[in-house]
Amino acid sequence: MKVIPENMAGFTVPGENVRAIRRFLTARKRNLLDMSPEDIALFLEKMGLQPYRCGQILRWVYRRGVRDFEGMTDISRDLRKRLSLQLDISIPEIAAVDTSRDGTRKFLLQLVDGLQVESVLIPERNHITCCISTQVGCAQGCRFCLTGRRGLLRNLSSGEIVGQLLALKEACPAENITNVVLMGMGEPLANIHHTLRALEVLISPQALGISRKHVTVSTVGLIPGIRKLAAKPSASLAVSLNAATDEVRNRLMPVNRRYPLGELLAALRAYPLPPGRRITIEYVMIADVNDTPADARRLVSLLRGIRVKVNLIPLNEAPEIPFSRPDEYTVLNFQNELLERHITAIIRKSRGSDIRAACGQLQGGLGR
Ligand code: SF4
Repeated sequence: MKVIPENMAGFTVPGENVRAIRRFLTARKRNLLDMSPEDIALFLEKMGLQPYRCGQILRWVYRRGVRDFEGMTDISRDLRKRLSLQLDISIPEIAAVDTSRDGTRKFLLQLVDGLQVESVLIPERNHITCCISTQVGCAQGCRFCLTGRRGLLRNLSSGEIVGQLLALKEACPAENITNVVLMGMGEPLANIHHTLRALEVLISPQALGISRKHVTVSTVGLIPGIRKLAAKPSASLAVSLNAATDEVRNRLMPVNRRYPLGELLAALRAYPLPPGRRITIEYVMIADVNDTPADARRLVSLLRGIRVKVNLIPLNEAPEIPFSRPDEYTVLNFQNELLERHITAIIRKSRGSDIRAACGQLQGGLGR
């Protein structure tokens, strides 16, 4: 697949329309959502404005949901006009919504260039989690996942990543979204620049101000990205492991040939965790592939010395995927092997699988 390097807007776009899309993007005003609080402060300073203006604008955008400088009524009319000549505030549009029997809602969001991504709102007992995407499609090609089947179309900008949350908040004003997981379409650490900037906006008390503990980045194990995340501790880390040997992991996840288990676990051992925090290990359970008690014991040995909790995710089956889900007894047995060896292990209930909103099922309209 032909993928161009990052352009000024931070996109990577394969295919023949690259030049047209670039022209379209450069013709647009800069989206304020693509800027970190620090970028905005600098931008305003260059306009000769006082630093307090930054806090004022951030409050309007992220706390009060204003999408137009005209609505910022404590800013002079003249300044609002100057700002709107250079910037806009644009969030993805909701093109469709599906609601699952279990209350999970999947949103299809339309981006400026017509491409689409999916985000999911998952109501849990005490909180609501928003699962957002970081790429249109995915290049990782995990064999148990539908998202990767059409490859990567492009990276999302940081504004498009954060914009999904803003669009969902706007559509569901009564919902108090407390947790955000970057586990939707795409591999966040393959889009590290925009992921890091989006995290700043999600966490900064000046912007969305979500607790670091409640923001999670999930990766297949791109070691350079894990190191960059470690240098700037900003969110919780989840790693999609899914196997306890290189042989099985190579079969399930092509990334393992680049970053085999030994190197990945060494990177996790070196990952600086604040007191009381743990790395989440995601383990998609697949019948007759990675689900035996011996697999569980091998997993325990691999994880020795790393502060982790393990999420066991029985595979979400689909006709396009050549694997099946283990029975309940096998999953419970696997969990017991971990618990007996003092590893916290939780069996994740599949949420939204009837509307293809569960783990590994998002396709951003590509599969419709
Ligand atoms: S599991 Fe994640 S990284 Fe793997 S193909 Fe699916 S979206 Fe990409």
